[in-house]
Amino acid sequence: MRSSWSCPAAVLRSRAVTVSCLYVLAAAAAAPMATAQALPAPAVVTGITSPKEQFGFAIGDDYQLATYEQLTAYWRRLDEQSDRMALVDIGKTAEGRSQWMAIITSPDNHRKLDRLKAIARRLALAEDVTTDAEARALAAEGRAVVWIDGGLHANETLGAQQLIETVYQLVSRDDEETRRILDNVVVLAVHANPDGHDLVANWYLRERDPLKRSLDDLPRLYQKYAGHDNNRDSYMSALAETANMNRVLYREWFPQIMYNHHQTGPAGTVMFAPPFRDPFNYVYDPLIPTSLDLVGAAMHTRFAAEGKPGVTMRRGANYSTWWNGGLRTTVYFHNMIGLLTETIGHPTPMEIPFRPERQLPSNDLPFPIEPQVWHMRQSVEYSLTANRAVLDLAARYREQFLFNIWRMGRNSIERGQRDTWTMYPRRLEKVQQAQAAGEPAGGPRLAPGAAPKSLFTRVLRDPALRDPRGYILRADQPDFPTAIVFANALIRAGVTVHRATQPFTVEGRQYPAGSLVVKAAQAFRPHVLDMFEPQDHPDDFRFPGGPPIPPYDSAGWTLAFQMGVQFDRVLEGFDGPFERVADEIDIPPGRVTGPATATAFVFSHTSNQAFRAVNRLLAAGERVERLGDGRFRVVVGRQTRARLDDVARVTGVSFEGVTGAAGGAGRVLRPMRVGLWDRYGGSMPSGWLRLVLEQFEFAYEVVYPPQLDAGGLASRFDVIVLPDGAIPEPGALWAPRQPRPEIVPAEYRERIGSFSANTTLPQIRAFLEQGGTVLAIGSSTSIGGHLGLPIGDKLVDAAGNPLKTEQYYVPGSILRVRVDTTQPVALGLRADTDVYFDNSPVFTLPADAAARGITPVAWFDSPAPLRSGWAWGQRHLEGGVAIAQAKVGRGSLVLFGPEITFRAQPHGTFRFLFNGIHLANAER
Ligand SMILES: [Zn+2]
Repeated sequence: MRSSWSCPAAVLRSRAVTVSCLYVLAAAAAAPMATAQALPAPAVVTGITSPKEQFGFAIGDDYQLATYEQLTAYWRRLDEQSDRMALVDIGKTAEGRSQWMAIITSPDNHRKLDRLKAIARRLALAEDVTTDAEARALAAEGRAVVWIDGGLHANETLGAQQLIETVYQLVSRDDEETRRILDNVVVLAVHANPDGHDLVANWYLRERDPLKRSLDDLPRLYQKYAGHDNNRDSYMSALAETANMNRVLYREWFPQIMYNHHQTGPAGTVMFAPPFRDPFNYVYDPLIPTSLDLVGAAMHTRFAAEGKPGVTMRRGANYSTWWNGGLRTTVYFHNMIGLLTETIGHPTPMEIPFRPERQLPSNDLPFPIEPQVWHMRQSVEYSLTANRAVLDLAARYREQFLFNIWRMGRNSIERGQRDTWTMYPRRLEKVQQAQAAGEPAGGPRLAPGAAPKSLFTRVLRDPALRDPRGYILRADQPDFPTAIVFANALIRAGVTVHRATQPFTVEGRQYPAGSLVVKAAQAFRPHVLDMFEPQDHPDDFRFPGGPPIPPYDSAGWTLAFQMGVQFDRVLEGFDGPFERVADEIDIPPGRVTGPATATAFVFSHTSNQAFRAVNRLLAAGERVERLGDGRFRVVVGRQTRARLDDVARVTGVSFEGVTGAAGGAGRVLRPMRVGLWDRYGGSMPSGWLRLVLEQFEFAYEVVYPPQLDAGGLASRFDVIVLPDGAIPEPGALWAPRQPRPEIVPAEYRERIGSFSANTTLPQIRAFLEQGGTVLAIGSSTSIGGHLGLPIGDKLVDAAGNPLKTEQYYVPGSILRVRVDTTQPVALGLRADTDVYFDNSPVFTLPADAAARGITPVAWFDSPAPLRSGWAWGQRHLEGGVAIAQAKVGRGSLVLFGPEITFRAQPHGTFRFLFNGIHLANAER
């Protein structure tokens, strides 16, 4: 997934292990293209324009890339020329382009496409199809639906280029296999990132001299907000493109197989293809891993049969099926077979390096490849082989794939209707501990390795550990609008949500009308469990006592925890006055109440939307105050009442009219001028922050290192936000590589630069001393050290050396912290708050911290703060400070160790940021 072409970017976050850089050989440019396997010329349909006729070059020709604009024109033409293809606009992108999907199948199938779509839907949802016989009849009538995408990671240029060639071949070839595929399969060819495709292709092609063309030094993110993290959004659907694709996947077409193309292959190979390494996730159906083996075997077999070496699998790379949230991985939680390939390739010829360890054949790499010069067209041919292997298998076994997605859906519904237990590593540990303690005493003699069956019953079938039959989100919780945002993420991912039409009672608890209900008895139950329940990542080490094997992405992500949503788990079957929610839920409008003589309106600060209301009112010129208890008060002016009606309707915030000085003294808020750090090329954490600020209507200005260095910051900003990655460790020798200004278009030159202790630090210090607020997140909390604050590192051994990963290792997980909610930056937070933590900084404060103006805001008050994920050696966290605030001159510095805005997901900690932005107001 990580591209090799922008290796320095990989250093920013070590979340996903990167493959080593491959070497682009400009020198190899003159070398003739290696001849690919000679295949007999296939039968073709006449009247179809080839890519070469359309673009003037063949797909995969050296130094060439077709842009998205060109792809669009070409697909429109094919759509006119071919009765096998229908072009569908699946929605607008972040930059306003149409996102295209080509539906390709036989003309006969096109004539009954609605029927085929309905069959795919009914089998996947498994609601009104309850018997094997009905499912088999529908499977016989239906067609396999296979998703093939390209271009998600735009600098992995192969993905979009192979998609053009794939579509062309499917509409133009007339061999027996192609016709069989078209007769039996509906192919959804989806472009996953149109904006990035145009950006990257035009960047490469801007050089007229092909030998000078390069994908390096792209000036900005190739998805407006998320860049590479556009593949980290699939359960959240915060990005336009994800929402478009999730609608196709989970609400419209329900493909049984989806194939997500990436680049690059592990060094010394051409491609990684499924199956994947352990661990897999415990909540999904066993048919998922077995089907991955089946489809993966078809891919590898075809490569071997076609004489295409160099394709690895399983432990040949770091990809697993543990994590939910990627385009390819979220499908597992929807009973779909998700394929990922990572393939080498570059429009500039390159070389497969000699890696000795990739020469010995094994089950992970049965057919090694010799080091050699490599051309893009060869990678296109490999992609076509992989696509055809999948499509051929889907065509041959279409009834089984259709039946099996129904079987998985039905299994989910049935599991949701009876007592079930999901097995987790910590439960196995409990069994082992009980057994080691000699329990039960005096039982019958056991065979070696066996445990008493009574332990199975008592520990693993403990009724308290049953999977819930459903979840209830109370309508009267303090931040119900955020619960609605959460429910909408579920709905966008195809989950069925119900809403109570009247008050009701479940397990003795009373709930108001409007409460939301998510039942486990639905086809996408694995996704439901995954969004509400903790992930329990196994302890995964290279060898006993050795270093941990990093998870591919997060180890734990429970969205309900990240968003701070209050919910009840219901362990018994239940029902009530529930109606099925048809589409995304609007926030219920707030109320404006109080006497006509009200002189002010008070509103609560416990919902994130309260800040959107504040921002709207301030932007309209209203006088807004913050009260001592954290609530807000808007003073009545000439148009206030009408504005409040409008704001209440949009934000769900309720306003209570008061007269006199009700609520006590308040501080007047003014709109804050926010400067958000970013860098040349675009920082993903900064990009996600832009999205969060826009969602809640904070005005902001992006600020690049040269502008920080120029100084005068206090005259331009009240707040500077330093996201993860902005500030290196004090004394760090490494500095991010910067492009040469002369190769950069003038509009981007002002962005080149990076933090320097000599030039940037004095300006930030001056900004603070003059009363500014600096909010530093994640690794950028090292600004505290640069400023000489007496803040220590909690995660060191007795000798002061950083703990080794064998002792302490917490990859992306959710931890619980204790919060001092009387601090201005923590107003409205819960005393126990869940934070997203990724080997994040944890601080110690000196005994005289308070006297030196340093205050802990949040800290670990338990030896076991893990809520979801993996926290090896978590006892080391106890007593450590997660969030601290320091006075620097007249200003305030807040150090947020945890990722409080991670990928725009942890709405439960956004208020730290929002309060932080208003700190200058609070302390004036
Ligand atoms: Zn990728």
